[in-house]
Amino acid sequence: MSIASAIFRSREPEGGAYHIAFGATALALAATVFYVDTYTDIEGAIAVLYAITVLLAAQAITRVGLITLSCLCGFLSLVSYALTHAGETDLQAMLRLVVALAALVITTMLLVKTETARLALLSINAALRESEGRYRSIFDRTRVALWERDYSKLHAVLMGLKQQGIVDVRAHARAHPGFTERCIDLITVVASNEAGKELLGCDASATGTLKQSITTASDKFLDMLQAIMDNRRVFEDKVLIRTHGGDDKLVLLSISFPEEPLAFHRVIVSMVDITQRELALKALGEAQAELTKASKAAAVGVMSASLAHELNQPLGAIVVNAQTLLRWLDRDPPDLAAARRCAERMVRDSQRASDIIHNTRSLLARRDGSTETFDLDAFIEDTLALLEHELDRSGTKVRIEREHTPPVRAVKIELQQVLINLLTNAIQAMDEAGIENRAIIVRTESQDAGTIRLTIRDTGPGIAEAIRDKLFSPFFTTKATGMGIGLSICRATLEARGGSLTGDNHPQGGAVFSILMPVHPEVERA
Ligand code: ADP
Repeated sequence: MSIASAIFRSREPEGGAYHIAFGATALALAATVFYVDTYTDIEGAIAVLYAITVLLAAQAITRVGLITLSCLCGFLSLVSYALTHAGETDLQAMLRLVVALAALVITTMLLVKTETARLALLSINAALRESEGRYRSIFDRTRVALWERDYSKLHAVLMGLKQQGIVDVRAHARAHPGFTERCIDLITVVASNEAGKELLGCDASATGTLKQSITTASDKFLDMLQAIMDNRRVFEDKVLIRTHGGDDKLVLLSISFPEEPLAFHRVIVSMVDITQRELALKALGEAQAELTKASKAAAVGVMSASLAHELNQPLGAIVVNAQTLLRWLDRDPPDLAAARRCAERMVRDSQRASDIIHNTRSLLARRDGSTETFDLDAFIEDTLALLEHELDRSGTKVRIEREHTPPVRAVKIELQQVLINLLTNAIQAMDEAGIENRAIIVRTESQDAGTIRLTIRDTGPGIAEAIRDKLFSPFFTTKATGMGIGLSICRATLEARGGSLTGDNHPQGGAVFSILMPVHPEVERA
């Protein structure tokens, strides 16, 4: 900082010339006062005039400059006194000197105080200008459509009505046709930003009344009036507005009302165009409804396909047993004991078919099948007994490898369907491939403390690499008469109970399917 800038105020655009003029005048005045005080016989407090020098210079100099000038003037007063009254004691002259110095000090102090206040005011002004500038730039540049509107007249009218005891704006508007239009006329637009002009499609001025853009068909405007009457601070709603081009747009309108009635002349209104979003939401809603319908139809389709698939096995067994029974009866004499065994098997298979239908029905009705705790070994034996005929017919040997496992808790019929599916698939795979040594190894083991693993391995051709990824996809089949839903249903059934099903090739050949089941399933989803 230079000495000049410490002493002189910066004052554009006059700059240096202004300072020089004031500085020179002040110095000339000081010199004149010094001359008159020192070299003329005028008796009086001439030195008091130094105060005028300081007052004059105050227009152009800083606080530092003021104090410097004041000290200089005081020094000149003392020099004058010393020159004119050397060696004598003139009480009057001394009093004049004291008065002059006091006047100088008081003037300087007052000027410094004024200058300090002026500087404080200037900095407040600068801060205000900056804040106004910030507000302006936010207002102008934001992509949200903004308006500055004058609601003061409308506010006054509504408060007047309130004083008359009117509290329901809607009822008042119904009783007074034209009230809404009059209220719209009372609002004026003071300013609008670019986004606002774009939204309404209007020209650069974008000021005036709102008559064109407010649609009186809806009650939203009356809701806004009610908000003002109720002294609410914010009004927000979806509102239909009409652009200057005559198009209707759906916007999210937000108005912040001030607390002070006097501030209603400057209310900020914002709008966000949600027309496209609402259209997209509507389309999404319709698409979702369609999808729900389609997936319901698909669910029914899959369910009936599953029913047909699951019933195929017990019904087939019933037919075979019925034919065998007839043969036992046709014998002479009929073998009643054998016929009875066949009839019992038919009863058992019919019961299974009935259970399958019951279970499917409860699934459709979204009721949980009842879980029970049972021993896996006995369960496997029972299930194999159901497939006795198929196993015999195909010449498939079954080996059970069991580890001691804790009882499982599951929906028995569901797990039985899964096991029958996997066993039937194994029989069919070995049948189709014409395998000579047909064997199925059913193995139970504890995977860990809470999980049991049940594996069904066969000596068939295994799963071709090309179809491994699709194995569990619904309706994927390599069989001429297959439906391709067995594995997908088995997996879905197990997963719904917190279990899992995977399929792979065994290192020694053949396919192996692994069921993992929680011992006490925590997740039991129907
Ligand atoms: P589907 O038996 O009606 O074909 P699945 O979903 O039960 O339907 O089986 C899908 C496909 O998985 C079968 O078509 C078959 O190609 C293959 N697959 C299933 N089990 C075996 C298995 N044990 N060995 C070889 N391939 C199998």
